[in-house]
Amino acid sequence: MSLKEYSKKRDFQHTPEPEGLVEVHTSTLVFVVQKHQASQLHFDFRLELDGVLKSWAVPKGPSMNPSDKRLAVLVEDHPLEYASFAGEIPEGNYGAGTVEIWDTGYWTPGGDFSDVEKALEGGVLEFILHGEKLQGKFALIQLKKSKIKNGWLLVKKKDAYAVSRPYDAYEQ
Ligand code: MN
Repeated sequence: MSLKEYSKKRDFQHTPEPEGLVEVHTSTLVFVVQKHQASQLHFDFRLELDGVLKSWAVPKGPSMNPSDKRLAVLVEDHPLEYASFAGEIPEGNYGAGTVEIWDTGYWTPGGDFSDVEKALEGGVLEFILHGEKLQGKFALIQLKKSKIKNGWLLVKKKDAYAVSRPYDAYEQ
C-alpha cells in the first residue's frame, strides 16, 4: 500500500488535507463516506485496508435500496487520517471544495472472503457496514467489461437493514 499518488496530487503547504502515513490498525477497520462539493458534487466511499483507505468516488452516493446500483470509481488510496477530515480544500488545489463527513463507522468483510485483498483483485468484495446511515451487507463489484475506467458498482445486499423506498443520499 502506498500514498504516492495521493501525495503527488496535492501540495500540503496549500491544502489543509492530511499528508498522512500508512498506518496499519490491528483492531477494527474504519469506513467513511464523505460528501465532497468539488467541481462536481459527489460522495467518496472509503474502506480501511492494510493501513490506508481504499477509495471510490460515488457520484450519486450510496443507497440502502438493493435495487440501486451506484457507480463507484476507484481512485487513489488515501491516508487513514483522511477518515476524520472535513473542511475546505482551497481553490487551485486538487479536489478544491468542501468536504463533509456524511457517515462513518467500522466495517467487516462479509461473504466467504477471508482474504479481502484477493476479493478486491477478483473484483467482488462483500462487506458489512456498521455506520449510522449505512448498515448491513453491501458489495462492491468491478465492471470488468465496461468502458468506464476503474468502474465498480456499490450495491446494498438484501437484509433487515435494506429499504424498498427510493433512497437519495443527498437527502439523508
Ligand atoms: Mn472527492
